[in-house]
Amino acid sequence: MWYPEESVTYCRHCDLDIPNECFWRGRGYMITGPGTQARTSVLYSECPECGRRQSVGLEGKLWFRVLYGWLWKLRYPNRRPPEREEFVELPRRRVSGE
Ligand SMILES: [Zn+2]
Repeated sequence: MWYPEESVTYCRHCDLDIPNECFWRGRGYMITGPGTQARTSVLYSECPECGRRQSVGLEGKLWFRVLYGWLWKLRYPNRRPPEREEFVELPRRRVSGE
């Protein structure tokens, strides 16, 4: 079976399947015709090894976007990137306060 997110579930650089907790959902635009665009769901992934980010927009017929929008919601409940950025920020703040 073909999944729209297939291209972002694998890191070619690390030869690694990206785990579900490293995905998050957002909103984006897709081009629907000359000069026209529509809002759609975008799925982001971040490789836990190298931090490389990938994204894929949900494009296609309305029923397809509704179906996968729903499936993505179940499968990838995150609305934000994984905690990596907080890890980077916390020590920095501590250092500047000293
Ligand atoms: Zn990687």
